[in-house]
Amino acid sequence: MSDVLRFDDNCVFCKIIKGDIPSTKVYEDNLCYAFRDINPQAPTHILVVPKVHITSVAEVDRHNEALVGHMFTVIAKIARDEGLDEGGYRVISNCGPDACQSVPHLHFHILGGKKMREGMV
Ligand code: AMP
Ligand code: ZN
Repeated sequence: MSDVLRFDDNCVFCKIIKGDIPSTKVYEDNLCYAFRDINPQAPTHILVVPKVHITSVAEVDRHNEALVGHMFTVIAKIARDEGLDEGGYRVISNCGPDACQSVPHLHFHILGGKKMREGMV
């Protein structure tokens, strides 16, 4: 990691990125890390996280918007590699308590591999 100070020592996803907590890696580059969700909600359930501690979508601004754009390029690549692009998939980011965000480190869920219910909530 180029800048350890940009991690939060108490954050589970920062610990995963640093390798202090094991994970099943799907993809990694200098900006982001992707791994399989420990409690999958669909046949394919992958989390994509930035390699910097951003709390949620609420902290996205002009300083990190290029990083977030890159994460979506990575999301599309992972979906292709996982064979999800034909059937489709869902990308979700829970933000804050009403959305039941449980890990306060920005992450995008990639969910696919089955027909989902039409409702969003
Ligand atoms: P959210 O509720 O949107 O904040 O999503 C957090 C996700 O992180 C949940 O789907 C959890 O199952 C997942 N999760 C928590 N701890 C781990 C872990 N150690 N490895 C993989 N996924 C995890
Ligand atoms: Zn973190």
